[in-house]
Amino acid sequence: MATIVDDHVMVCDDCLMLIANDDATGLDHFLDEASAAARERELHDAIAAAQRDGNYLVVGDSDQNEEFSTSSCDCCQTHLAGSRHHCVLMG
Ligand SMILES: [Zn+2]
Repeated sequence: MATIVDDHVMVCDDCLMLIANDDATGLDHFLDEASAAARERELHDAIAAAQRDGNYLVVGDSDQNEEFSTSSCDCCQTHLAGSRHHCVLMG
């Protein structure tokens, strides 16, 4: 039975895209091909690290999203200000 490991993981747009859809193609809209590929690797690594020990991230409660935040992403640690999306780490 799944249990909640961390019920307040706030992630950036990029991480959410991968957590929700396993899709990083949106990165191409902002970055050139090489930068997008590097960023995608970074995101995959960050998410893999967050999901170590068999835990996994799921999209949480959108009511808890922050439209604009300057806190770092809990997943990839980016400091870029922007929206943060609520996720839950299950184990
Ligand atoms: Zn992130």
